[in-house]
Amino acid sequence: MPRLLAFTLLLCVSLGAQADSYITRLLNKPVPGGVAVIDLGNATQPPKALYDGKPVLVVREQQTWRAIVGLPLTVKPGQQTLSVGGQARSFTVGSKQYPEQRITLKNTRQVNPNPADIKRIDAELAEQLRAYRSFSPGTPSNLLLDKPVNGPLSSKFGVRRFFNGEERNPHSGLDFAVPAGTPIKTPANGKVILVGNYFFNGNTVFVDHGQGFISMFCHMSKIDVKVGDNLTRGNVVGRVGATGRATGPHMHWNVSLNDARVDPAIFIGAFQP
Ligand code: ZN
Repeated sequence: MPRLLAFTLLLCVSLGAQADSYITRLLNKPVPGGVAVIDLGNATQPPKALYDGKPVLVVREQQTWRAIVGLPLTVKPGQQTLSVGGQARSFTVGSKQYPEQRITLKNTRQVNPNPADIKRIDAELAEQLRAYRSFSPGTPSNLLLDKPVNGPLSSKFGVRRFFNGEERNPHSGLDFAVPAGTPIKTPANGKVILVGNYFFNGNTVFVDHGQGFISMFCHMSKIDVKVGDNLTRGNVVGRVGATGRATGPHMHWNVSLNDARVDPAIFIGAFQP
């Protein structure tokens, strides 16, 4: 082969590897409720990255470290900063419009809880936030996740919700329309870090996939795991139900990165800009 052609081919291959990162192409959706994939170079040791003071998932792809940053729905479009080994790295977040949904609940206590309910809700929220903020060192078995159930999507992530006409928190996860009793499978390996029966979420399981990458499943009719269980991708965590604030049986799945709830659709290749 002529030397120039060989050199050109080599250059194309290395440029291709740089520009065409599999992870970036599939997961980089830098919008509120999305994910920013940031190239951190090729140091021997993984760089430590913090976003909003919280540790961020860092993975190696080919020779390059990449930060997989979760962007909460509340993030303001524009310039954001990632701290990498103490140095500021800026990146840009775009905007995204989320639709509205109006829901009628017969149980008005689920819209306007009484003082005893509020006490319970606050304690449960704190417990769940602690789980979302936990950070274990292991690298996730897979970043592209399996669907926890097979079925059509019924409510998208980020939808602004009005219960009996009153605005409440936007939808923090993705709903699948599947019958009660359907087994829910963990979309990646992980450890069960929290199990509970909560006022809004009903029967709930948190699975830590590693480095702050966490799945939460709720409204379950039955929980099949306990705290401390080590799960392999595909293991059943519980069954679909309608416990907590739910209008009927469905599977609700949250995905969290660095304590930011992000659109699970990104990880199953179903994200719509
Ligand atoms: Zn839901």
